[in-house]
Amino acid sequence: MKFELPALPYETGALEPVIGKQTVELHHGKHFQAYITNLNNLVPGTKYENMDLISIVKDSDGPIFNNAGQALNHEIYFSSFSPNGGGEPVGKLGEAINAQFGDFENFKKEFNAAAVSVFGSGWAWLASDADGKLVITKEPNGSNPVVKGLKPLLGFDVWEHAYYLDYQNRRPDHVNALWNIIDWKAVDSRY
Ligand code: MN
Repeated sequence: MKFELPALPYETGALEPVIGKQTVELHHGKHFQAYITNLNNLVPGTKYENMDLISIVKDSDGPIFNNAGQALNHEIYFSSFSPNGGGEPVGKLGEAINAQFGDFENFKKEFNAAAVSVFGSGWAWLASDADGKLVITKEPNGSNPVVKGLKPLLGFDVWEHAYYLDYQNRRPDHVNALWNIIDWKAVDSRY
């Protein structure tokens, strides 16, 4: 299987001021592209050659795991934003968030705390288990909740390449601003 960089569902400058145009151009066009290119160079001749991304991430380790994980992470990440995003989740996911976390504000507080406290490079995720129970996880480097048998719903990338041009060291400000561009329809469709 030849992996391809998914096109962005918005213009590179459309997420400003939450995420700057240059950050989107570098993050999607260079970092994400590099994970795809690396993966395409690594899998030929291995058992992963014809597997989908999730199956590769669940089964692999080393460089194949790192690049497949990041390919999967960024596919979900960039399709979770919209210039018309923000607000609160509605429908099934909104109900589950309120039932499990009390309300949306409290959910955000718990998610932000996870994202801010990832040490070094990694991700914070909202994921669900087989029964639909929601879980907030912290994943190091290129990992994804699928390795824990969970379904990834929403991921915040807290590698410095995701925010340093726009926020420098202020990761909490970046994490807090991201809520203004979340496309809840896209996130809910994964639940
Ligand atoms: Mn990234």
